[in-house]
Amino acid sequence: MLRGATESILRRFYPPTCVLCGARGQGGLDLCAACLADLPTNRHCCGRCALPLPAELPSGALCGECQHHLPPYAVCHAAFRYEGPVPALVGGAKFRDRLNLARLLGQCLTNALRECTAEMPELILPVPLHAKRLRERGYNQALEIARTIGRELSIPVDSHSCARVLATPPQAGLAQKERRRNLAEAFRVLHPPGVERVAILDDVMTTGSTVSELTGVLLKAGVRRVDIWAVARTP
Ligand SMILES: [Zn+2]
Ligand SMILES: [Zn+2]
Repeated sequence: MLRGATESILRRFYPPTCVLCGARGQGGLDLCAACLADLPTNRHCCGRCALPLPAELPSGALCGECQHHLPPYAVCHAAFRYEGPVPALVGGAKFRDRLNLARLLGQCLTNALRECTAEMPELILPVPLHAKRLRERGYNQALEIARTIGRELSIPVDSHSCARVLATPPQAGLAQKERRRNLAEAFRVLHPPGVERVAILDDVMTTGSTVSELTGVLLKAGVRRVDIWAVARTP
């Protein structure tokens, strides 16, 4: 309540401003209409893992990987392709402070989810950072984004049920098989979430091995259905 009131006062004195070009923001977003229209929405993608696919394929088509081996989660929704200005938006405080960017990305993903998701989960669970990484960075961007979405959609955010118990080295440059091994038992459920349906929130989904691993431990802990929500999906 208080947060909403503070925000509306701040908005009066500091109207939304486009983080990409500095023009006036549109629709309460820190993006102008032109920059928003230029963002690469992930409309044509795999019906299961949201991997960007050519526009010619029918909607709901599966990518080669999913045809070969379905991931453990029910479906992934990703707002954007990880290209154009999206890496800069996700990557950091280059333009404005991180909370502004996390809120903006959360608003964009909320808008995308409103368009495509029929059933909402009972909980949003941001991908946890290992305690060491959290100390280095000072914040978990996935949690910051999840907070905005939780507020917009009135869904609780759970950042305590799961922990990352292995400080995994960066995934870039590893083959898919190595990535899976690298992530083995990376997560642990500390308290079963006690709900049937959870959405895992990640900022950027690359191969999906991280969210698949987390899905696996949640299903073992009694969750019936896990969806993945990501701000961006790498092509
Ligand atoms: Zn702009
Ligand atoms: Zn797929």
